[in-house]
Amino acid sequence: MKIIKFQASTMINEVLLATRNEGKIREFTALLGSVFQRIISLEGLDSIPDIVEDGNTFRENALKKARFISEFTKRVTLADDSGLEVNALDGRPGVLSARYAGEKVLDKENIEKLLKELRGVVDRKARFVCVLALVFLNGSEIVVEGRCDGIIVDDPRGENGFGYDPVFFVPEMDKTMAELKPEEKNLISHRALAVKKLIMCLNELRINNK
Ligand code: IMP
Repeated sequence: MKIIKFQASTMINEVLLATRNEGKIREFTALLGSVFQRIISLEGLDSIPDIVEDGNTFRENALKKARFISEFTKRVTLADDSGLEVNALDGRPGVLSARYAGEKVLDKENIEKLLKELRGVVDRKARFVCVLALVFLNGSEIVVEGRCDGIIVDDPRGENGFGYDPVFFVPEMDKTMAELKPEEKNLISHRALAVKKLIMCLNELRINNK
């Protein structure tokens, strides 16, 4: 957990999620419902320019998105950058997870590329990583990270979730992420763990600022 800079008097009723990804919006809304009175996303805010995610790390990209969108919209903004790191691929697809098989491809195409690269590979260990950056209007910033370990399986299974969920097997649940119900994924996912840290951090700040 990292509080980069924080000034007292930061009360948050509304947060803007810096994403148009339906899967992420669904999960964040479920995870953050008790923290913010109002959660909005970039859906419907058409005038916002696309941000080039050219950072080398999840952290760089999350902060870049949150800072830019907060400045542009004048709203408290939460951005995440997340992705899949595979041991045998030296951490790839990493920050390129969304566009592993090319720009604007389907999740299915990214999975196909991943499985092709892992054909015959014995070490299937991987992890999902999520970095969250929350940027306030007074310049305060909070950055947290969540991780979830798993194994890449050859045959996609399950209909839930999004992205690489059908090939990401979670040993502790004995299922792929896509076989988990949304409420089960929201207990163990990298995004859920990052949100938990964020909530702890906000609670601590509230207590210390009382
Ligand atoms: P971002 O929008 O650059 O953060 O892209 C994240 C990409 O990582 C998504 O498009 C997915 O391909 C992958 N990803 C991130 N989180 C998850 C998840 O919870 N399940 C499956 N894939 C994920």
